[in-house]
This record gives sequence, structure tokens and C-alpha cells, in this order.
Amino acid sequence: MTNLRLRPGLGDLPVFRSAPAGAGGIKLDSNELAFGPLPGVRDATADAVREVNRYPDNSGADLTRRLAETYGLPVETISLGPGSVGLCMQLLQITCEAGDEVIIPWRSFEVYPTLARTAGAVVRAIPLTPAHKPDLVAMAAAITDRTRLVFVCTPNNPTGTVLGREELERFFDAVPGDVLVVLDEAYWEFVGDPDALDGIAYVKERIRRGRHNVVALRTFSKAYGLAGVRVGYCVSAEPVADMLARVAVPYAVNTVAQRAAVASLACVSELRTRVGVVALERERTREALVKWGYEVPPSGGNFLWLPLGEASEPFRQHCLDRRIRVRALAGEGVRVTVGEPHENDELLAAADTFPAGRAFNGKVSTSS
Ligand SMILES: *Cc1c(COP(=O)(O)O)cnc(C)c1O
Repeated sequence: MTNLRLRPGLGDLPVFRSAPAGAGGIKLDSNELAFGPLPGVRDATADAVREVNRYPDNSGADLTRRLAETYGLPVETISLGPGSVGLCMQLLQITCEAGDEVIIPWRSFEVYPTLARTAGAVVRAIPLTPAHKPDLVAMAAAITDRTRLVFVCTPNNPTGTVLGREELERFFDAVPGDVLVVLDEAYWEFVGDPDALDGIAYVKERIRRGRHNVVALRTFSKAYGLAGVRVGYCVSAEPVADMLARVAVPYAVNTVAQRAAVASLACVSELRTRVGVVALERERTREALVKWGYEVPPSGGNFLWLPLGEASEPFRQHCLDRRIRVRALAGEGVRVTVGEPHENDELLAAADTFPAGRAFNGKVSTSS
């Protein structure tokens, strides 16, 4: 306790905790890429390290220009941030004052409610559908005069489910034009479904029609394997990007991160190969689990969701006993990242020997 004049209510916020670094074992708890950084990143970052006595380029001009070229967009529509979570915070800061409402699907990315509450906003969490997808119809219906921001996550973390193009477009058209919607596509590169909505192409098309209220978030943390350097980006209409720049923490994206991202963008075919390996492993792992009676929603990400309900924490412990770290959300489910083939084999061996796995499964799937 302290007598300092701190903001009230902060004591209720959860502290974000990551697994202890270097704890060893098989790390399938944070949706990181199993492979190291793409070719060229090591040299590019080694060069960048020599310059870290200087502040970074705050505009991230080189990376911004390369992203703009990649997507055929003006540089003014691209905002860089210290991971896409940094941009989530900025999006909240440009929209919300104390008491304003933020709509999120739930379960979804655990960071949304904490950041929204940090911004002073009131969180309206809309339960997922029985198919473990964000309930876009209910989310649209929940919008009120107080709503300032809506988060949509596809593939949804932690359930992996991908929202269809049509349902997304219907949703965006149902949202009032003055309410900002954030389409979080952190796992977009893994989706691989040609019918899935490409959020950046969609935002670009909307901007052309003068509609500014949907923005797309992507990150270098997942498919690009750069979680450790913290860089993500937002594609939005220019007035939104302009506001995001005004609330940005100066120099938030460091030189090493900028150079690593630029080097990664040059490795398109290598990226495709890796993403393909992950997708194959994801399907192989899922098929085995489903065959054994586990409920596992189809996933478009580099992870799978096992809605084990009360068996979630025991499953986590069972995996940990075999030195496999997975992410359990007590009473709800377990999220397992797709790792290298031998790691997925270990995970499957653990699932195969989990006594309660199949028995628990049918029970929870009806209640979720
Ligand atoms: C991992 C993840 C991110 C990425 O966060 P970074 O800050 O870019 O590392 C964003 N959204 C979701 C849903 C995620 O799972």
C-alpha cells in the first residue's frame, strides 16, 4: 500500500507475465515461430547494433517505404509501432476518454481488455459463438453512442478461428461510419485460404471510397519470427495515421527492429516456405488430436485451441511434467503453439497419455 495519489482501480489490472526466459523444455505457450529469424536479419541487425548510440529514425522511413511499396499504398497510411500491442494502445488513446466503451470479442487476445482499461475505457466483452468465433452480429448489436473502438481478431487468439470474408464485410458495413474498428491480423500470413479477407487490401479499397473507420494491424512477431525486437504496423486512412503519430512514444521502434523488419521483407519465398511448414504441421497435429476425440476448432494461425474446460489446468500440468509448456486459461481451454515437427510429436504424445482428455472434451464443447 502507498499513500501516493495514483489513479484508482489500477490494482485490479492483471500484470502481464511471460514464461521465464531460458526455462528450457519445449516452448509452445507464446505463439512464437519455431524457426529463427529469416536470412539476412542477423547481418542487418549486427550492422544496426553499431549505431545504437544514436536515436532511431522516428519515422521509420525505410521500413515504412518498403511496406508502402509492398502493398501499393501511400506511406501516409502506414504507422509503425513497438509491436502491434503498442499500436493497440495508441488506437485506444486516439479514441477513448474515461468512460467510453470498447467492444471486444471474448475470449480473444488477453491484452485488449487490459489496455482498454488502462486507457480508462469500459470494456464490453461479447462472448464467442459456439464455433469459437467472434460473434460479429452480437458485437454490431452491442455498439452504442458511447462506443469508440471495436477490436476484431482473425484468426482469433486463442481459438484460431478465421472469420469469413462475407461476414466481415457485412459487419464492417453494419458499424456506424464514425466508430473505429481494428482488424487484428497478427496471424494473417498463416491463413493460406484464398477466400479469406485480406484486411490490408480491404482497408485500401475502403479508403478509396472515403471510408476511414476500419484499420488493419499486422506484426513481424509471428510469421516473420521477430517477436523479440518488437515491431508491428497499422494500415489506416491518413487522418487516423496522423493521430496515431501524435500519441506515439518517441523512438518506440528501435533501429535494430527497423532493420530486422526491412531485411525480413526481402525474404518472401523463404517466408512462404516456413509458413507452409507451420500450416502442414498444424493440420497434422490437429487431425491426430481430433482422431483421439479432442475437440479442436479449425485454426488459421500457428496454434491450436483445446477447449478442455476444467481439464485445462491438469492438461497444462501434464504437459509441464513432460517439459512442454502450453498456455492454459483456467476453466476454459489450452492454447498450444505449433512448433517444429519433433516438438509437435512430443505434444501429441502428451495428449495421447492425458487421462481425462477425451472424457472431458464432449462435456465442455456444449457449454462453450
Ligand atoms: C501476438 C499477437 C499480436 C502481436 O503482438 P506484437 O506486439 O506485435 O508482438 C497482436 N495481436 C494478437 C491477437 C496476437 O496474438
